[in-house]
Amino acid sequence: MTDAADPTRRLNLWPESASRPVGNPIQPSVVYASPDPDTLDAQYEGRLHGYTYAREGHPNATVLARRIDALEGATGGIVTGSGMAAVAAALMGVLRAGDHVLGGDQLYGRSLRLMNQDLGRFGIAATLADPTDARAFAAAIRPETRMILLEVVSNPTLRVADMAGIAALARERGILLAVDNTFTTPRGYRPFDHGADIVLHSVTKILAGHSDATLGYVAARDPEVTRAITDFAVTTGLTASPFDCWLAERGLLTFPLRYDRAEANAAALADHLAGLPGVVRVLYPLRADHPDHNRAQAVLHARGGHMVSFEIAGGRDAANRLTRAAPQIAFAPTLGDVNTTLSHPASSSHRGLSPEARAALGITEGFFRVSVGIEEIDALKAEFGSAIAAATGT
Ligand SMILES: *Cc1c(COP(=O)(O)O)cnc(C)c1O
Repeated sequence: MTDAADPTRRLNLWPESASRPVGNPIQPSVVYASPDPDTLDAQYEGRLHGYTYAREGHPNATVLARRIDALEGATGGIVTGSGMAAVAAALMGVLRAGDHVLGGDQLYGRSLRLMNQDLGRFGIAATLADPTDARAFAAAIRPETRMILLEVVSNPTLRVADMAGIAALARERGILLAVDNTFTTPRGYRPFDHGADIVLHSVTKILAGHSDATLGYVAARDPEVTRAITDFAVTTGLTASPFDCWLAERGLLTFPLRYDRAEANAAALADHLAGLPGVVRVLYPLRADHPDHNRAQAVLHARGGHMVSFEIAGGRDAANRLTRAAPQIAFAPTLGDVNTTLSHPASSSHRGLSPEARAALGITEGFFRVSVGIEEIDALKAEFGSAIAAATGT
């Protein structure tokens, strides 16, 4: 019997083609066969490039990482199985027992949980400070502070961090500055151009952009730091699936178009919401009434991003009426989809906070965060207008 007649034999039957595929293929193989031990040695020692085992790396992750590297001005970044995997790898791959990490006080909810509840079990101290106030950061630095973790625009109140002030502080004190650039994206802000040492993303959000792949990305300026983060991610299995990487690569092809359109929609929707009688407050970084308006201009230039927050009167009852009156707009705790999604922090991301702590942040029962999509803006204005009118009786 020939090998080809035995269907249990793995054979390389991939046909030759004089023409090339326009789309990149998916490579789902978990393992890679090397010709001999010398070659395998050369691969492990980095003298030859070759994959060995998918947890350690695979072509679809490499392709995606190189594309995000190019957007961020990075080299050697890695793709992880989620945004939180990237946050965990950045912190736990670098910090050791006895170190202190200082974070912004409005970080992504699970990042806060990692800092406040998990790092302590490994002997790593974490505290938080207001990132709009570089002096508060300076006051919170300890001799053992090794890293600062920041988001440029906070969730959900869209406060703009004092990036220049905190980057200067980090540089002076020899502290690594890690920036979660998910909200701003490299189209709005490139942290490596402004003193960051580590940049990370939830690629799940607008980079991939279609709510069908869960992924993260992390890159460091110093190759030693990159090595430490990569080893931690590979050892703890924070690796991404080839299929997700392939979907994200496809999503990335339209990222600039989607981002620009969503951002233009967000700016227009923010102005529209501000003119509605049922709306108490609108937050959008480039609006003149934003609490960090001047800093937003300096940090973000004309890139206000695709997130808008607003508040209506009438408490939880009005909030319930609003989401029910806008069934076309998914009420879902995420962001960055092609379509507009609406989230209610008091019942989702910030439900763990006491009502007093929420009130201090301005997150009332009538507070909503909108991740604006790429729909026709007139339809979005009309949908929000009628839902808010129905919710507030205006
Ligand atoms: C969603 C998000 C994360 C976590 O990413 P996942 O892909 O959901 O794990 C981290 N940071 C920010 C700012 C996010 O929005």
